[in-house]
Amino acid sequence: MYLDGDFVDGQGDDLTSVNPATEEPLATVSTASAADVDRAVTAARRAYEGPWSAMPAAERGKYLFRIARGIAERARELAVVETLDNGKPIKESRDVDVPTASAHFFYHAGWADKLAHAGLGPAPRPLGVVGQVIPWNFPLLMAAWKIAPALAAGNTVVLKPAETTPLTALVLAEILADAGLPDGVVNILPGAGDVGQALVRHPGIDKVAFTGSTEVGRQIQSALAGTGRALTLELGGKAANIVFDDAPLDQAVEGIVNGIFFNQGHVCCAGSRLLVQESVADEVLDKLRLRISTLRLGDPMDKNTDVGAVNSAEQLQRITELSATGDLEGAQRWTSPCPLPDRGYFFPPTVFSGVTQSMRIARDEIFGPVLSVLTFRTPDEAVAKANNTPYGLSAGVWTEKGSRILGMASALRAGVVWANTFNRFDPTAAFGGYRESGFGREGGRAGLAAYLRSDEGAQA
Ligand code: NDP
Repeated sequence: MYLDGDFVDGQGDDLTSVNPATEEPLATVSTASAADVDRAVTAARRAYEGPWSAMPAAERGKYLFRIARGIAERARELAVVETLDNGKPIKESRDVDVPTASAHFFYHAGWADKLAHAGLGPAPRPLGVVGQVIPWNFPLLMAAWKIAPALAAGNTVVLKPAETTPLTALVLAEILADAGLPDGVVNILPGAGDVGQALVRHPGIDKVAFTGSTEVGRQIQSALAGTGRALTLELGGKAANIVFDDAPLDQAVEGIVNGIFFNQGHVCCAGSRLLVQESVADEVLDKLRLRISTLRLGDPMDKNTDVGAVNSAEQLQRITELSATGDLEGAQRWTSPCPLPDRGYFFPPTVFSGVTQSMRIARDEIFGPVLSVLTFRTPDEAVAKANNTPYGLSAGVWTEKGSRILGMASALRAGVVWANTFNRFDPTAAFGGYRESGFGREGGRAGLAAYLRSDEGAQA
C-alpha cells in the first residue's frame, strides 16, 4: 500500500490479482485493514492541514504536471500492466486509457492556480480529505479522473482501487512518489469492498467520490445521509445508441461496434441498447453482423486483438446469466463466429434482436459485449424508448440532420449525448449522469466544482 508517502504492508489479508486472459496469478498485493484506513485518513488530514494547504496554488499545479509527465514516461509499462491485470486489449490501454489518464493530470494542472476563474466565486476553497473508491473497468483512468481534480482543487486523497485490478494504481503511487508529492497527499489502499466501506464511512472524510454499481452507490448514499459530507456518484447506465434512417450507415456501424465492444462492454456509458429506425433495421443488422464477424477476440497482449478478456469469473458468470434471460424472454441471439481461447474469461460478441422494452436485457446493465437491438418508427418513439430506463448516463444519435441532433440531445435524459460518434472522452468535457446513474460531474469546470466549496452567491 502507499500510505503517508511510504510503501508499507497493510494489515488486511493479501490478495492475488489474476490475469483474466490466462487465469494465472499475476501478483500478490497487500491490503488495508480498517486501522490502515484510519491511518491513511489521519495522514491525509495532516497533509491537508500542513504542506498542501500552505503551498501556493502554482506550486501545487507543478506536481500535477510532473505526475502527468510521469504517466507519459511510463506509458508502455502502464499499458502492459493494465492489460495483464484487467484483460482489455493492449491497443486500448496503450491508445486510450494511459494517454487519457495523463491528459487528465495535464488538464487539471492548469486549473490549480486559476480556481478563481472557475465560476465558483473569487476564492473557492477545497473540501478537505476526499475518500475515493473506483471500479475495475478503467483502473488507471478512473484513478486519474478522481485524483487529478481533487489535487488541483487543493484536497488530499485516500483512494481504494478495485480488488481485481490494483496494479496500475500502485504504479501510479510510484509516479506520485517520484514526483515528490508531499507525504500523505495521496494514499492508495488496495482491498476489497470492506475497505471501501470503511473508507466512505470514516468520519474524517469530507467528501466521497465513488464510481461503480448503482447498488453500492445506493448503500453509500444512505450511509452518508445526514452527515453533511459531500458525495458524487458515477454509477451504471443502459445507454441508447439511436440510428436514424438518414445516418451514414457504415459510419454508424463503426460507432455501434465501438459503443458496445470497446473494453468488452465493461463501460458504464456503453451503447448497450441499439435503437434503429425500422426502415433501415435489416440493413443495419446485416452490416453489423458482418462487421462484428471480423473482430478478433483473444490474447489482450496481441496488438491486433479487438476484444479481450472479461475481467473476472464473477463478471463472466453475470454476463452469461443475464444474456440467458434474453433467450428465455424470446429475443433472437446472434453470436460472433470467432473462436474462443481454451483458457481465460472470454465472452463472444453477441447481438440480440427482436428485443422488447420489458426484457431484462433491455433494462439491466449487462456490462459485457452484449448488444440489445430495438426498433422505432418516429423520433418521438425513439426518445420515449431511449428514456425508458431508470438510468441516465449517456446516449448516441446518428443522423445527418444537425437540427435533429440538437432536438434529440435536449429531449434525451442523459448526462452525455454523442452525435455521430460514441465513447469519446476528454478531460475538458464534463461526464456524469442523473437518476440511477448518479450525480455530480467529472472533467471540465463542472468536475472541479465537485471538489470545491463555493463562496456564497457563486454561480456553479
Ligand atoms: P462494485 O460497485 O461492487 O465495485 C466498485 C468499487 O466499490 C470497487 O472498488 C469495490 O471493491 C467497492 N465496493 C464494493 N462494495 C463496497 C461498499 N459496500 N462500500 C464501498 N465500496 C465498495 O461493482 P462490481 O465490481 O461488483 O460490479 C458489479 C456490477 O456493477 C457490474 O456488473 C456492472 O454492472 C456495475 N459496475 C458499473 C461500473 C461503472 O463504471 N458504472 C463499474 C463497475 C461495475 P471490490 O472491487 O473489492 O469489490
